[in-house]
Amino acid sequence: MQLTAVRRGLRDPNDTGVNGVCQKGSVTGVWGASMIQLEDVTKVYRMGKVEVRALESVDLTIDDGELVAIMGPSGSGKTTLMNILGCLDVPTSGRYLLDGTDVSRLSDNRLAKIRSRKIGFVFQSFNLVARTNAVRNVELPLVYAGVRARRNPARVALEQVGLADRQKHLPNELSGGQQQRVAIARALINDPALLLADEPTGNLDTAASAEILKLLGALNDAGRTVVIITHEEEVSRFARRVVRMRDGRIVSDQVQRSRTEVTA
Ligand code: ADP
Ligand code: MG
Repeated sequence: MQLTAVRRGLRDPNDTGVNGVCQKGSVTGVWGASMIQLEDVTKVYRMGKVEVRALESVDLTIDDGELVAIMGPSGSGKTTLMNILGCLDVPTSGRYLLDGTDVSRLSDNRLAKIRSRKIGFVFQSFNLVARTNAVRNVELPLVYAGVRARRNPARVALEQVGLADRQKHLPNELSGGQQQRVAIARALINDPALLLADEPTGNLDTAASAEILKLLGALNDAGRTVVIITHEEEVSRFARRVVRMRDGRIVSDQVQRSRTEVTA
């Protein structure tokens, strides 16, 4: 399996520039800030007169190159947190600094631009287009971005996930694990610095889950920041850092010395 360690859009640690402000490779400016910084983030959903406090005073910092598992029972706020981390939604109150830029009050348009530049998403249900083959599914984000030269990057992305020989297969001609790998290739097509996976192994059997975790681990080893949301303890044993949530709050945040090897 081939994985490239390109980190476009990331700060270059060898380039401290002038007064700690990066020159090349810098997206936002000050070197030394974390990739993700949530400060006192609250998310309240209002449904008529009913108020659901999905996130309550969440503080969370994630550095470039980390692999973090976010765990917690159903309804604890994991997906809400991911939607905010992924700039799909904004907090009701509090701040979200992404690479040093406050993105908590940006318009939908600005958020969409940030997403397409920096963030790749992987979902439990793969979200592939059913009647479209693997390579075309992987190309889709480039279609939306108006990029013409799509086939080659899509092929490279499929190679990265070990599916070079399945380009023309439709989703229903692939196993669950292979479909999720296509979805990961699609998430990688814009070369995002941050990969967010919401229950990526939720629909997979044990062997396929291990394969997907191994792939996410390898992508992290190649320099990408990876956040995996899950309720499976198995995933938490694999991540170096585990953040646990309950009732919209972070109740623990632990760094383990070494990651358990996952064998496919
Ligand atoms: P998890 O992913 O951990 O299962 P969620 O983030 O999906 O949790 O949900 C957290 C809480 O917010 C739940 O009580 C859920 O019912 C509520 N919730 C999530 N999304 C919405 C929404 N769009 N509108 C109203 N309530 C929501
Ligand atoms: Mg969820």
